[in-house]
Amino acid sequence: MSDARKGELAASLAEVEERIGAACKAAGRARDEVKLLAVTKTFPALDAALLADLGALDLAENRDQEAGAKAEEVAGLRPDARIRWHMVGSLQRNKAKSVVRWADEVQSVDSERLADALGKATRSALDSGQRDHPLDVLIQVSLDDDPKRGGTRVSELGQLAERIAHVGDIRLRGLMAVAPLGIDPAEAFEKLARASERLREDHPNAREISAGMSNDLEQAIAHGSTCVRVGTALLGGRGLASP
Ligand SMILES: *Cc1c(COP(=O)(O)O)cnc(C)c1O
Repeated sequence: MSDARKGELAASLAEVEERIGAACKAAGRARDEVKLLAVTKTFPALDAALLADLGALDLAENRDQEAGAKAEEVAGLRPDARIRWHMVGSLQRNKAKSVVRWADEVQSVDSERLADALGKATRSALDSGQRDHPLDVLIQVSLDDDPKRGGTRVSELGQLAERIAHVGDIRLRGLMAVAPLGIDPAEAFEKLARASERLREDHPNAREISAGMSNDLEQAIAHGSTCVRVGTALLGGRGLASP
């Protein structure tokens, strides 16, 4: 059974790789400027392990509880795989302690209070030996200024970036966004690219632009994405009830 699934995942991974390669070429960019995150949410640990076997070592999840258990299971299945786990879903402050046990990076930081909580949780995880490296973070940006959907307003980005820079043990790597429904994705990604340029004036190491999913990765790459987050096109549909 797992052989058949591995074949399926290999085929979809090759297709996604081809799309990313073609999009990079069309944009005059090198393939290695864009990282692929496989979004394994709702799929079993074995799928994540098979993706790692196929060389997809950057894995992403959107719920702390599901991800913590899955990361542990995958570590049991593939103790030697050099997997990096990324948190891409909205995160409550009270989950900070838990998320720093499994995540190498949190892409969904959207408030100073969350940044503070992650800094504190990372510090104590480092002290107690639950982690051995600082936490990379991205600021999630709201591209339609609707804060209900997560993300900080572009106008508040500078202040949040300053705060992150002053909290120890977390490292600001860049920005993340989801293209809002009802807005031309190209326009949204262009806005994100401009926000990234401004951010880098003060934070030159914050170069990541995490943008693009199964349906819009080509447009995101055309507008400077350095990290596409792909679920459905790799693993299949999650069904109507799933997030
Ligand atoms: C689920 C999810 C994705 C992947 O979406 P697909 O359309 O399945 O590729 C990307 N980013 C975030 C934040 C997600 O929650």
